[in-house]
Amino acid sequence: MKIGFMVLMFVVGAVMGSFLSCQAWRLRYKEQGKKKLGKRSVCLKCGKQLKWYDNIPIISWLMLGGKCRACKKPIGASEIVIELLFGLGFLGFGSTVDPSSMSVMNWVIFGFMLALILSLGFLAIYDARWRELPQAVLIFAVICAIIIVILKQWSLFSVVGFSWGPILNTLGAVAILGGTYLVLYLLSKGEWVGDGDWILGLALGLALGDSWLALILLFLANFIGSMIMLPKKQKKIAFGPFLVVAFIIVITFAEFLSGFLSGKLW
Ligand SMILES: [Zn+2]
Repeated sequence: MKIGFMVLMFVVGAVMGSFLSCQAWRLRYKEQGKKKLGKRSVCLKCGKQLKWYDNIPIISWLMLGGKCRACKKPIGASEIVIELLFGLGFLGFGSTVDPSSMSVMNWVIFGFMLALILSLGFLAIYDARWRELPQAVLIFAVICAIIIVILKQWSLFSVVGFSWGPILNTLGAVAILGGTYLVLYLLSKGEWVGDGDWILGLALGLALGDSWLALILLFLANFIGSMIMLPKKQKKIAFGPFLVVAFIIVITFAEFLSGFLSGKLW
């Protein structure tokens, strides 16, 4: 059961990665006022429609050796990287739940988390390609995160009654992730980070709901970001993708990390 669920999560993740990578191009073309891409997937170089068997995530890319079947121009490594990362992200998040013992409320929260992860994934793709975070998707992510907070607090409230602890913990996480990027944005007048980063941080803080995990996320995102970007010597780093990758890592290992922080593992 659990293994079947994990395989399903990976496959769904890879398919969604492939789909959202396409949707990112569609939105970009629309925002740039270029001619619309058709309903079916096409090669961006030669415009030829893809056959269904050239559209299977990961597998098709490997079979074609990363080249278009018609014009032989490279499809780009980003496609397979996105599909793999989405597959792994879904797998990681899927590993944190036990589908055989989940309540209706757990499934509802699970559903909103998936919606949040999809919107975050889309933002990461868009930010990595064009250094922009589309506002409508940012707002969607924040709304998902707010619903998750309300549902989590509600289910906690129904078990242990009201307490300030979890609320303050969530506010701390929001201050750490949203606040840091807002301060950086205001201090540098938009030179170091973009105006969307703090809204992304706000969504991540809300969904995470834990100040310590938020600190780890912040550290991880900057660590991965500088490891990958420093050798390239770019002035402005698009932090979005690293924040999203760090978020997935932190929620996947949240239980382990929380145990580690409270000293349960020693
Ligand atoms: Zn082509």
